[in-house]
Amino acid sequence: MTDVRTALVIGSGIAGPAMAMALQKAGIDSVIYEAEPAGSHGAGVFLTLGSNGIDALRVLHADEPVLAAAFPTPAITLRSGTGKRLGESRTGRTLPDGTTSQTVKRADLYQVLHDEARRRGARIEFGKRLVAAQETGGGVRAVFADGSEASGDVLIGCDGVGSTVRRIIDPGAPRPTYAGLVGTGGYATGVDVGIEPGSYEMIFGRRAFFGYALAPDGEVWWFANVPRRDEPAPGDLAAIGGEEWRRRLLDLYAADAGPAVALVEATPDLAAMTPVHAVPHLPTWHTGRMIVVGDAAHAPSPTSGQGASLAIEDAVVLAKCLRDVPGHHAAFARFEAERRPRVERIIKWAARINNSKAAGPVARVVRDGMLPAILKLTADSKAHRQTYDHHIEWDAPMGAPA
Ligand SMILES: Cc1cc2nc3c(=O)[nH]c(=O)nc-3n(C[C@H](O)[C@H](O)[C@H](O)COP(=O)(O)OP(=O)(O)OC[C@H]3O[C@@H](n4cnc5c(N)ncnc54)[C@H](O)[C@@H]3O)c2cc1C
Repeated sequence: MTDVRTALVIGSGIAGPAMAMALQKAGIDSVIYEAEPAGSHGAGVFLTLGSNGIDALRVLHADEPVLAAAFPTPAITLRSGTGKRLGESRTGRTLPDGTTSQTVKRADLYQVLHDEARRRGARIEFGKRLVAAQETGGGVRAVFADGSEASGDVLIGCDGVGSTVRRIIDPGAPRPTYAGLVGTGGYATGVDVGIEPGSYEMIFGRRAFFGYALAPDGEVWWFANVPRRDEPAPGDLAAIGGEEWRRRLLDLYAADAGPAVALVEATPDLAAMTPVHAVPHLPTWHTGRMIVVGDAAHAPSPTSGQGASLAIEDAVVLAKCLRDVPGHHAAFARFEAERRPRVERIIKWAARINNSKAAGPVARVVRDGMLPAILKLTADSKAHRQTYDHHIEWDAPMGAPA
């Protein structure tokens, strides 16, 4: 029987609301504390939820509103900057009812998850930036930037790649690693991109990487990843300004085949340019009554297309551990033993793809030559199946690690 009755959930991106819903299912009360005001959109314009992420949402009965805001994108066509088709990468598997991976605007996903958590009675307090946390005799106390405090039995850090909870758990924890890329994106209408709705294409451009998907309503969702060797200091990218970034993107993609230039031109507002970070390996995910999940514990590079799905899986598995494993410490240890091998395998795989996005001229030739064969080999590989077929059985008790 668990000793946990109440949890403080820090961060209300993807892991946070999923965590609150999963805890509720496990009979544990929680309050979510989010640093930003209500309606914040986070970094990145849109994302793809793999079949495993949808399946995990399904455990929480929270998949339907997400599917209503998304559209299916079962595969991505990869091209070189010359327009040559390099192959196809499946973004997931097909669930028994025919559902495949889905692409959704980040702002919509956040909103839908907030609404769904709140509909079930979860409390989300916005404008509450955690700055400190301490263990008290039988619990944990969180302190926020506005001077307010909150107490609970455990504190769960769902506070993303720049996590404060991670630093509180282990002040010596490695910093997120900069992936050598900065990214932006946007939404364009009125551009004929010559693909079917639901198609998703990515271009290894000569100087920068580009991706775009055609939504059923004709809007084209796109993102750009631009190699940049040095990690930008806070404020550096914002200081450049949207119109200057537009000019630079038009220049970067000018020599590439495909619709990048037309899409950048047709987009009213570019999303803020942000650096891409990953958290590949932390010595520990928990201490005492505090734990990190989602990006705070293990952010893969965005190339994996798995960060959001893994965050939702984490929420479900941690709630199961707290439900089944006696004592919070043992429950946290069980969670880490269950999750670490899976997420670190996916992170390693994603890091390899990231390197090829920022490839120089020689590496580019090698990549374009080898990628078609690699894509064929990995299409139905064990790793692919392990990633996307992953299913969490809510009713199965969390026994000892296998
Ligand atoms: C450009 C880009 C593209 C991506 N594409 C994909 C994709 O296609 N598929 C995919 O699965 N993943 C993708 N990802 C990764 C995915 O976005 C993350 O893995 C996912 O958002 C992780 O969810 P999270 O809840 O752990 O963190 P987040 O979504 O980052 O949420 C963290 C929340 O915590 C809040 N917070 C931070 N600090 C504090 C604090 N001190 N106190 C209180 N609140 C705090 C933040 O404001 C935020 O709301 C992409 C990421 C980027 C940057």
